[in-house]
Amino acid sequence: MSLSLPAIIVQGAESLLSMAEGILQDAKISQGKDAVFEFPDTAYHLPMIYALTGLAVQTVGDMEVALGKANDLVAGIRERRGAEPSLGDALEAGLAAHFGVELILALRGLCGQEPVHDQGSGISYHGFLSDTMQRTLGVKLVDGTIPGVAVILGAAPDDGTAVRIVRELQENRIFVLLAGSGISEQLKRAGVDFGLESRIVPLGPEPIHALYAVNWAVRAALIFGGKKAGDMPEHLAYQRERVNAFVIALGAPTPEILAVGAGAIVLGYPVISDQNVPTLEAKGICPNEALVGVPDHAKIAQRAVEVRGLKITVSKPPIPVPYGPAFEGERVRKENTFAEFGGQRSAAFEWVRTLPAEEIEHNRVTVVGTDWQQRYQKGGVLPLAIVVDVAGRKMQPDFEGVIERKIHTNINEAHGIWHMGQRDIIWIRISSEAKQAGFELEHIGVIQTAAILHKFGQIVDKVQVTLYVDDADVLRFREEARRSYLERDRRLGSLTDESVDDFYSCLLCQSFAPSHVCVISPERLGLCGAFNWLDAKAAFEIDPTGGNQPIQKGELLDERVGRYSGVDDYLKKASGGAVETLNMYTLMENPMTSCGCFECIVGIVPEANGVLIVHRGHAGMTPAGMKFSTLAASVGGGVQTPGFMGVGVNFITSKKFIAGDGGLRRVVWMPAELKTRIRDAFNKRAADEGMPDLLDRIADETICEEPDQLVEFLTSVNHPALEMEPLL
Ligand code: SF4
Ligand code: ZN
Repeated sequence: MSLSLPAIIVQGAESLLSMAEGILQDAKISQGKDAVFEFPDTAYHLPMIYALTGLAVQTVGDMEVALGKANDLVAGIRERRGAEPSLGDALEAGLAAHFGVELILALRGLCGQEPVHDQGSGISYHGFLSDTMQRTLGVKLVDGTIPGVAVILGAAPDDGTAVRIVRELQENRIFVLLAGSGISEQLKRAGVDFGLESRIVPLGPEPIHALYAVNWAVRAALIFGGKKAGDMPEHLAYQRERVNAFVIALGAPTPEILAVGAGAIVLGYPVISDQNVPTLEAKGICPNEALVGVPDHAKIAQRAVEVRGLKITVSKPPIPVPYGPAFEGERVRKENTFAEFGGQRSAAFEWVRTLPAEEIEHNRVTVVGTDWQQRYQKGGVLPLAIVVDVAGRKMQPDFEGVIERKIHTNINEAHGIWHMGQRDIIWIRISSEAKQAGFELEHIGVIQTAAILHKFGQIVDKVQVTLYVDDADVLRFREEARRSYLERDRRLGSLTDESVDDFYSCLLCQSFAPSHVCVISPERLGLCGAFNWLDAKAAFEIDPTGGNQPIQKGELLDERVGRYSGVDDYLKKASGGAVETLNMYTLMENPMTSCGCFECIVGIVPEANGVLIVHRGHAGMTPAGMKFSTLAASVGGGVQTPGFMGVGVNFITSKKFIAGDGGLRRVVWMPAELKTRIRDAFNKRAADEGMPDLLDRIADETICEEPDQLVEFLTSVNHPALEMEPLL
């Protein structure tokens, strides 16, 4: 007699749990019960188990407790149902299977067997996905740049099919995670680039490595959503409603894979199989089907996107190379370069200017230069001016810079074209591969017209691009452009919180952190660093009902801390009552909430009467006694955390940076990398404050990582914070 699907799933879960049991017993002997294990760069222990059960697993002994709970769950099903479990039982067993797999991976990690580098195929599997990675991708997940995450298990029938499925997902801007050596090796053989930048990440050589995707996704609720560990119903609901993940399972599944798939369904991630499986619905869990069979590989990616219910708008400019965010991070190496522009090798710049509508021939791209066609065909180094002319009834000169800053992404999204810098310090490379595919010089302009109309169609009615490749032209127009950059900078410098009537909100992160609102003022950008006041203003013009809304400042209630009546009124509504009042310029009382994708955390160091700033990506300890990941876990989730807040890097050098607490003079510690990154702007601000050498009096990890030594250092350099009014 053949077993029913639920019975096979329960069997698969049992088999995974007994595998975990075996490894656990070995680890108890080889490592001892008190051996400690933690995944790299997470504040959430074994995240799946922690989120859903509240168990903070740290030692092998804790793992035994967790495994006991998972075993009880499955044993309970067996007791109730014997050999005939229901579909509901099977889903429950699926969750237990996930706990089992998380334990297996943790135990292997403890024994140094994870992540895997496979000598044979040359693939370095990524293994566990860090908190930092989720915070870094945060904005892209909320603003629709990455509409969803696909986890592919198994192997396609052949390399070509594997590539087609993944390319189609990429063109839909889906983030692709691979579990299993089959699919990973197929793509590797076909020359597909792996990495976070290219948004294709091989997690591990076995299908169970899909758990790294799950215990990554489950952290969204802890990082952004402010959900408490152990509140299982809330966590499940959060995943189902907010996390756009789905599974593509290729090849015939084993009972273990079926069990992992069932666990995915409980979290609301539909499973799309290439086998002839019966369609399953799970009302209240998955928006459409929970399990669907699509034996035609040409249709599987598209169908997966539909089943997950993703609405994706893609705009591909008419160019002969693939286009999309998946290619944004790729580099073009010197030996692959066909032609390049700028980068100190030639004069090059980019410039957006507003012209009267009648002076623009809509959608026209022109290349101007002596024998430019022959010169381009030869390749090598060329000068380049990219002059973009725009006109529109709702266009404002303030938006020129906003549109211009997108040129970078617009170009980088083309496969085989690379762009760096901005304004008159750009550097562009066209790869030999792109040239072979038919990429011509004018395509640089074609990309701009298409992308600008797609992104700014509400404010730009007409756009034309002229590319100049003769030195004389480039230098002449560069002078004009430089005058315009200066003018813009002057205007930006004059934009202060006092000089405008409206601030702007950003509500994008509410899709993950429902009560979080960024209040963006001229002197304070969004904490993710991606939106400043002008960006928000332009975004509001583009989509008046979108995620950026004007906030009338109203009355200034407290000048020192930056409290405005209009901001408070707005926040009460926009945060669903979670935030009553906000002080823009202090972190000590009612500071800005943090969602989770902040570039830096500012936190008090009471011993030093000052604050430290640590950026995302700094892995070491801080004098607050916590690493970035632990600090971050305590400030996120859309709540106000006095003494701590998330900020964008550029806010540090704003006049308004914790102005109510004494400003820059309060900063006592920053990682060296951050110091280097902001050095010029910091020194300028510090000089304005009469302390030109302040940065040298700020400690970093090369000086100390704990408070006693910090105070010693600060005393030795006579740091101003020591003399300031007590922070607490
Ligand atoms: Fe999220 Fe704030 Fe950035 Fe908007 S500005 S995307 S709300 S972090
Ligand atoms: Zn955010």
